[in-house]
Amino acid sequence: MKIAIIGAGFAGLASCWHLSNQGHQCTVFDSGKEGASHVATGLLHPYIGKECKRSLYADDALEDARALLHQAQLEIDAPIADYSGIIRICPDLETAERLKKQLQYDDIEWKCPLSFLITSGITVFSTLYLKGLRLSCEKLNIDFITKEIFKLEELVDFDRVIIAVGRGIERWFDLKELKLDLLKGQALTAQLEDPPKVSIVGSGYIGRTSQKDLYCLGSTYERSFTSDDPDRNFAELEIFSKLKKIDPSVKNAKVQSCHSGVRVCPKGHYLPIVSQLDDRHFLFTGLGSRGLLYHGWASKQLLNILR
Ligand SMILES: Cc1cc2nc3c(=O)[nH]c(=O)nc-3n(C[C@H](O)[C@H](O)[C@H](O)COP(=O)(O)OP(=O)(O)OC[C@H]3O[C@@H](n4cnc5c(N)ncnc54)[C@H](O)[C@@H]3O)c2cc1C
Repeated sequence: MKIAIIGAGFAGLASCWHLSNQGHQCTVFDSGKEGASHVATGLLHPYIGKECKRSLYADDALEDARALLHQAQLEIDAPIADYSGIIRICPDLETAERLKKQLQYDDIEWKCPLSFLITSGITVFSTLYLKGLRLSCEKLNIDFITKEIFKLEELVDFDRVIIAVGRGIERWFDLKELKLDLLKGQALTAQLEDPPKVSIVGSGYIGRTSQKDLYCLGSTYERSFTSDDPDRNFAELEIFSKLKKIDPSVKNAKVQSCHSGVRVCPKGHYLPIVSQLDDRHFLFTGLGSRGLLYHGWASKQLLNILR
């Protein structure tokens, strides 16, 4: 089939890779305005959220994400991810008790009262990963066209159209009807006085980056916002007040830049939305804060419904 994919973020590229490998002829359209995937800190692990429960379908999702990372790594000379695990620091003993219940799984270890090592945790260097995945797709003769699609009717020549546009979804759909929320996120890149050896998540996070001396500090979760653009003053206030709880030395960080993006989050659950809209159009959205965990797994769900 001739398939158009709108969007070249985690969702669009993972779909493109899987669909092309099934013999479909894919063309990817992207506006060239970098979406949330380009600013994602890259934390990939299954123990997300205050509930501290292992994410649904975690084993499959981790396996599918690792397979895509492996594929992308083949195209890039430098490491595109750090596989040394992620430390999760709980804010209080109550949360730690909840997380301790997950010690039944073999990818999490208790280190000290409030701290756990998620051994399956990976820090993905998002921009390098996207580059590698795109290069892998290009080797399959996929056309990448830098073009903003204004109307879905522009793509009448295609048998199927996958809409994987991240926050661009507002252009064509009513978010309330789809039960989706937008959540702006900001993060800082900074040099640290006393950098951690592995990425840390807790109240805020400190993520490793592809540059040894640079760290990504985040993040904000802004429900009402008037602009998608970074607001460095706000981001610094918010992020440092969270991070001082997990690493007091962070106050001496030398901030280099601030970046922002908008997550599309499903209401009432955290699984991505992969659905058929009509004979030709398919929606892949709602990756929320778990884009890396679920993009490979969800793009495989897309294969199933596209048959
Ligand atoms: C600050 C921040 C930190 C984050 N950190 C993490 C993290 O550590 N781990 C994690 O798993 N997730 C993280 N996330 C969430 C993650 O970034 C998202 O879940 C993921 O990027 C969503 O991918 P996507 O492909 O759906 O959307 P996007 O990455 O936004 O991609 C959509 C693409 O579609 C293109 N597009 C939109 N409209 C059109 C159009 N009309 N025509 C053509 N092209 C169009 C855009 O240019 C864009 O390239 C973070 C998000 C933010 C904001």
